[in-house]
Amino acid sequence: MKITFNGTAAAEGFPALFCECEHCQKARELGGKNIRTRSSCLIDEEYLIDFPPDVYMHVLHGKLRLSSVKHLIITHSHSDHFQPYELNMKLKPFAYPKEGEELYVYGNDRVYEKYKQAGCDSEERKEFLKYVHVYPRKAFKAGEAEVLPLKADHDNENEICHIYVISLRGKNLLYGHDTGYFPEETWEALKEFKLDGVILDCTFGGVDWDKGHMGIEANARVKERLIKQGSADENTIFIATHFSHNIRPLYEDMVQLAQKHGFIATYDGMVIEI
Ligand SMILES: [Zn+2]
Ligand SMILES: [Zn+2]
Ligand SMILES: [Zn+2]
Repeated sequence: MKITFNGTAAAEGFPALFCECEHCQKARELGGKNIRTRSSCLIDEEYLIDFPPDVYMHVLHGKLRLSSVKHLIITHSHSDHFQPYELNMKLKPFAYPKEGEELYVYGNDRVYEKYKQAGCDSEERKEFLKYVHVYPRKAFKAGEAEVLPLKADHDNENEICHIYVISLRGKNLLYGHDTGYFPEETWEALKEFKLDGVILDCTFGGVDWDKGHMGIEANARVKERLIKQGSADENTIFIATHFSHNIRPLYEDMVQLAQKHGFIATYDGMVIEI
């Protein structure tokens, strides 16, 4: 399974859109891996996780070819994870899809509301854009992949946000953001898996936090428990992502911090094979 990290920042991007804090200024000055767009991952060219406001930039400068994507899996409705208006660009006269070139979009009810507001479920669009409602612990098929949505600890008052276990060609990947330390029902469901790769929410970087989002120390606690319950072992690749300017995630600092806990820190464009 090939995972391409198209974007690796939290909602505001890094440097953040309107921000002149010292971290954003430093990131602008250093450039390179310190420049992060909003989070999204491409898996084996065919599966895209989340559809952030920077998706067009990922097409221009990254390795994303949207015509190859058949399945779009959305974690939750927050603006850094889902910008449905751009989905209309899949259709005439903005693009000319051929018969059979449908895009399946999977998400919760709140994601569907935004999708509908953007006009994506109109009759003429339904031929090429297909929405599938998904629910925690109800596995679904997406092409060759088996996908299990699990409840995240994130924006609990407004929606049921999902993290996902994606099983494809003999490998299991946990796509674990946005979330704090997992709810118990999610831990329980994870007992069924031996994970090859784990991607976790590291919005808080070096700050110890585990509610709604996590920092690297909470990531380490998740890692420890996954190993303890047999869902991971020494061959599992652990990855921290979704960084915010608030915690000084300059790339080299984040790499060191992550390494200390046996994690890989992402950067935009990073490719990992699991
Ligand atoms: Zn986010
Ligand atoms: Zn800033
Ligand atoms: Zn969020």
